[in-house]
Amino acid sequence: MPARAAARLSRAIVAWTTIATGDLSHLSGGALLRILRQVWPTPDPSAGPLGPPLRARAHRRDRESSFEVQDPAADPCAGLSMNFKNALTAGCLLLVVSACTLFRPPAERLTPASGVATLSIVGTNDLHGGISARDDRGGLALLGGYLKNLRGARTRDGGAVLLVDAGDMFQGTLESNATEGASVVAAYNALGYTAAAVGNHEFDFGPTGPAATPRAPADDPRGALKARAAEAAFPFLAANLVDVASGRAVDWPNVKPAVLVEAAGVKVGIIGVMTREALTATIRANVGGLSVAPLAQTIRGHATALRTQGAAVVVVAAHAGGRCLNFDRPEDLSSCESSSEIFSVARELPRGLVDVIVAGHTHAAVGHQVEGIAIIEALSGGRAFGRVDLDVDRLANHVTTRRMFAPRQICAREDPTTRTCDPAATAGTLVQAEYENAPVMPDAAIDLALAPALEQVRALKARPVGIVLDTPVRRLEPDSPLGNLFTDALLASVAGADVALHNSSGGLRADLPQGPLTYGSVYEVMPFDNLVVPIQMTGRQLRQVFATHLQRSSRVIGFSGIRVRAQCSGEALELVLMRPSGTPISDDEPLVVVVSDFLATGGDGILAPIIPPGGFPLPDTAALARDVFADYLNRLGGHLRQEDLLEPGNSRLSVPGAPPIRCSTP
Ligand SMILES: [Zn+2]
Repeated sequence: MPARAAARLSRAIVAWTTIATGDLSHLSGGALLRILRQVWPTPDPSAGPLGPPLRARAHRRDRESSFEVQDPAADPCAGLSMNFKNALTAGCLLLVVSACTLFRPPAERLTPASGVATLSIVGTNDLHGGISARDDRGGLALLGGYLKNLRGARTRDGGAVLLVDAGDMFQGTLESNATEGASVVAAYNALGYTAAAVGNHEFDFGPTGPAATPRAPADDPRGALKARAAEAAFPFLAANLVDVASGRAVDWPNVKPAVLVEAAGVKVGIIGVMTREALTATIRANVGGLSVAPLAQTIRGHATALRTQGAAVVVVAAHAGGRCLNFDRPEDLSSCESSSEIFSVARELPRGLVDVIVAGHTHAAVGHQVEGIAIIEALSGGRAFGRVDLDVDRLANHVTTRRMFAPRQICAREDPTTRTCDPAATAGTLVQAEYENAPVMPDAAIDLALAPALEQVRALKARPVGIVLDTPVRRLEPDSPLGNLFTDALLASVAGADVALHNSSGGLRADLPQGPLTYGSVYEVMPFDNLVVPIQMTGRQLRQVFATHLQRSSRVIGFSGIRVRAQCSGEALELVLMRPSGTPISDDEPLVVVVSDFLATGGDGILAPIIPPGGFPLPDTAALARDVFADYLNRLGGHLRQEDLLEPGNSRLSVPGAPPIRCSTP
């Protein structure tokens, strides 16, 4: 997440959690008023006599506070005659709404006998194998601690917790990838997941075993995914994943379109869908014979059927997402990317059919309401979770009240003011994290479930790569020794290639430490299972790529095989590309450029000036960039120092000042 977005999210969480914790003693009267206004906005006078269709009010509950969003269709005052409603002025509407809420029993006094149950829908997404805590943040044992506290609260009031994942569970860490995601499933079973959507990266492992794609006719390209589904104590959901041969949703053991569960006496339907781009965002060889049906149309069909079967609540687990920056008011979408896929889906659905969408895939944060649907998404890597509470009238069989929560950071220790451990929002001493009035303690049962995988990985991490680093090799800027080393490995892996390019800022995740190199360190540099893809372009196109990027971004492109010389000529940035020998590369010279599948399909926008619609074609089989890197280092052998990777006086990139470069006439 960009620093600016992180800061805005953090500011929102400050306001949110200050109310949530009830600790208002440090606030001035004015500050308190501002925060209260955020959660208790005054009526919008421009909204006409009835005001906006949904209103928020301040609400305190178990030291958590949130917006209570009243759906007019479910409101006890919905029975007021339209004439009476039309007679109301904007000024007295708030009073009436407040009076209406008085007739609704407060959740704290609810008991199973009262007919109303609170369901807490907890959403996670894009775990990407992030099963272990990093720097006291995230990890499934710690998530288990938050869940334990929340389940305690729901047990006390006769409600229930439903835990739903929006997909991309497995791909991304050695702890998960070494077991093809089995470690994640073991932990998810112990955490008591209700259901999980299938994400695009769930296809990444291909058949069971080390090969990521089928090698023999008998190999099932979906073998690893099916094995994980079979191990899961909860269903994998993929309603819009279609078997082209049958024209129907796939029919694999424990992979279903939707499921109807009962929680606290309430029937809840859960439907799983994946993004329209799912099958182009994984290894193509593993998704032959499959297609993805339109999300909204699929959801509409299943949600209608689930309602007919008695579902009072319909939840969608969608591996498709949105992106918002401000969480002050769930109905305020001004900070959201309105064209996001999941918002479009929500706008296509009939109002009242779906209650909650647990979203994912964009690795962003959402805690917003779109067309009456509560949509939550909580970043990635197991760092946060989303939550929506629903009060359900069991006799009337519908949701009466909905409370949305901002994405919650998963922290062992937290800033006592902001209730987060996001470094962008912490200052001073951190204290023991609390949730639902109790300290958050890692759940030992989850650690136990993860122990075998962690043990297996310990040996793999310690495996020597066969080279000794006499100094650390770092991702410095703008000339990155690690970026140089990594792209040298990419270039050497494709015979006859001229150039290698890589999104080194963002794509390389750690420095290489000094000492005998281990596979664990290589993995930390490159945790993504990116594939090596050679593409064709001309010298002119490559120059366009660099010129656009250097003027647009401060992020470093790592590259090998060329030297880039940039200088300002008036307002124009002039670029010369040459071979390391100094021979210039002409505009019409054909070049083979090695990139990752991430770049080839438009990742980071680096190839944006020249990319064909839909991205460059990917080969059916391709080497993993990480393995290419490890093999290259192993072949290099001996000793290596950081300075060996830099050529003073002939550095790979020469630019007039720090990017993004703005040339201007003096
Ligand atoms: Zn995804």
